Amino acid sequence: MIDLTQTLPQRFIGAGFTLYEKGSCLYLYRNQNHHGGIFIAKLPIKATVLNVTEVAERYLKPKIGEIKRAVEIGRDKKPYQKYILHACVICGKIRWVQLAKGKPKHLKCQSCAHWKGGKFKGSKGYIWISLPRNDPFFSMTNSKGYIRTNRLAMAQHLGRCLYSGERVQTRNRVKTDVRIENLRLISKPR
Ligand SMILES: [Zn+2]
Repeated sequence: MIDLTQTLPQRFIGAGFTLYEKGSCLYLYRNQNHHGGIFIAKLPIKATVLNVTEVAERYLKPKIGEIKRAVEIGRDKKPYQKYILHACVICGKIRWVQLAKGKPKHLKCQSCAHWKGGKFKGSKGYIWISLPRNDPFFSMTNSKGYIRTNRLAMAQHLGRCLYSGERVQTRNRVKTDVRIENLRLISKPR
C-alpha cells in the first residue's frame, strides 16, 4: 500500500482526504485515524489527480439536510451556531438556515416570508396585485409582475390591454373602489 495523499491539492489534504494505491487501484478516504476512516471511492490506477479531486469535490458539496457550524459556512457572528441546508417550502430555494431545537428556524426563504399573497396597497392609495406570467394582461405589469387593480379592471372590461398613455380614474376618488361604474378611461394626448 502506497500513501499518495501528498499528490492531492493542499485544500483536499486540509479537508482530511487521504489517497492510497493498493493492488492496481486508488482508494480515497476521509478523516482517517487509528479507528479507520470513511471510505469515499475506489478509482482505477490510471485516474488523474483531476479525476480524484472531482470525486472529492462532489463529496464536499453540501447536501440538503446537512448541518454545519456558522464558522464553516463563513458566518462568524455566533461561530458555533448550527445551520442546516434547507429548501424553502414555497419556492424550493436552497439556503443555510439556523437550527433551533433540531429544526430549521425558518421554513420559508426571505422573499417567500415577505410574500403577502400577491396584493398590497401602494403609496398613492391604489391596490396592486401580482399576475401570473400566462395572464392575458401580464404585459401591463411592472418589472415585478404587479399591476394596479383600477387598470386591470378597466382592461378586463374592455377585453384588451391598455396603452401606456391611457389613464384610469376613479370617479368617487376612492382609489380602492374599482367597480367598473366607478372607473373612467381617459387618454393622454400622445
Ligand atoms: Zn422561497
